[in-house]
Amino acid sequence: MIVGGGPAGMLMGLLLARENIDVLVLEKNKSLERDFRGETIAPGSVYLLKKLGIFRELEKHGFVKVNKIKMYDRDEKLFSVDFDRFDHPQKFGIDIPQPVVLEAIKQQALKHPNFHYIDGALCMDLLKENDQVVGVRYKQEQDVKEIQSQLVIGAEGRFSRIRSLAGFRVKKENFSRDLIWFKVPKPANWEEGNLIKVHKHDHVIILPTYPNYLRVGTYIPLGGSAYIKSKSIDWFIDKVCRIEPRLREPMKEHITSWEDTTLLKIFTAHVDEWAKDGIILIGDSAHTLSPILGQGVNLAMQDAYELLPYVKDGLSTYKNRPIPASHFDEFVSKRKQQVSFVSGFQAQQEQNLAASSLIQCAIRKLKMRVLDRLPFKYAVMEKLQYGIFANEKVEV
Ligand SMILES: Cc1cc2nc3c(=O)[nH]c(=O)nc-3n(C[C@H](O)[C@H](O)[C@H](O)COP(=O)(O)OP(=O)(O)OC[C@H]3O[C@@H](n4cnc5c(N)ncnc54)[C@H](O)[C@@H]3O)c2cc1C
Repeated sequence: MIVGGGPAGMLMGLLLARENIDVLVLEKNKSLERDFRGETIAPGSVYLLKKLGIFRELEKHGFVKVNKIKMYDRDEKLFSVDFDRFDHPQKFGIDIPQPVVLEAIKQQALKHPNFHYIDGALCMDLLKENDQVVGVRYKQEQDVKEIQSQLVIGAEGRFSRIRSLAGFRVKKENFSRDLIWFKVPKPANWEEGNLIKVHKHDHVIILPTYPNYLRVGTYIPLGGSAYIKSKSIDWFIDKVCRIEPRLREPMKEHITSWEDTTLLKIFTAHVDEWAKDGIILIGDSAHTLSPILGQGVNLAMQDAYELLPYVKDGLSTYKNRPIPASHFDEFVSKRKQQVSFVSGFQAQQEQNLAASSLIQCAIRKLKMRVLDRLPFKYAVMEKLQYGIFANEKVEV
């Protein structure tokens, strides 16, 4: 059984159903729409969606191709990655509303009679016997129901409840800054891919977004709502447009008050062990990372893909007993390596964006220029963007 129908849980459901394993996904929401969802899918996960035959459905809907990342200090290029130069057949990531992706995975899964999906089902508690997890208790409308399972896969995302119910130790760190996001229509002739622009202590992150928007983010000092109250929206527009003047026109028209922006509290969370007897965590429940470089969906989906053989093997080895935590040691150790590689990379980028003194800004410039020229730049970026598929260079 899987708790949570986000990228990790929904994909896990499909993968198990394809193997003729009976699987139930419990999702607390009635629809797949959410306040906020990661919308950029890295090339590694696009490759996976192609392998699973889901990408065709996404093509019918449409998406924005993401095939470049550039970092500028105002107009001076510091660092760039052109996905065409990756030694991998999948040359682009995509930007697409996450509900479209989840719906496509769900529809594919529903073709298998052993896939079951219950929405509006809030998982409230774990069922335990002899300290082992043997199922969950969930609420659907007014009814409270119990369901037993040999394995509970916790894919509830960053605010996971069963993570604490199962007694996992979580190391949560609040980010030292808050993030403001807003969306504006893409100006005419905008050819950029993902763009990071810095100048002195300021920066903006600009991501082309389906169908014809730019998603723009910038960090602000911690205590975002007090900050917002103390500044006018015109002050904010000036701050952003000093770094990227092309945003002035769309911002003037579409960002008329702070209500046109979204304030996000950023935190990271890491769980020491991801498994206990009868339960394993994947996706954001196991590792909540910073949104920078858009890797959360990639990690979540690849957790599911990599977990599949361990679940298959565990279900047959342990028959009707809960699968012991030790069965997943190898899986957890492999995934932790990838998560720590990604979070290390993100920490570097966060540090770049946090530079404020003249010296820090000069070091940032030098560091990014040197990195840009390193011969192994593409090998490192491949590991980040493709994850477990970095070495699987077969056209699908
Ligand atoms: C500002 C921001 C921008 C981001 N941008 C990107 C991006 O562009 N690209 C990217 O790859 N990642 C991005 N991310 C991260 C990305 O959204 C997550 O990493 C990803 O969604 C994790 O997938 P998941 O399946 O683990 O969890 P989630 O997507 O959080 O899914 C969890 C699911 O579980 C359900 N659920 C929760 N509790 C219960 C319960 N008790 N019972 C039943 N169901 C429950 C929820 O409703 C939800 O559907 C961003 C994150 C932030 C904060």
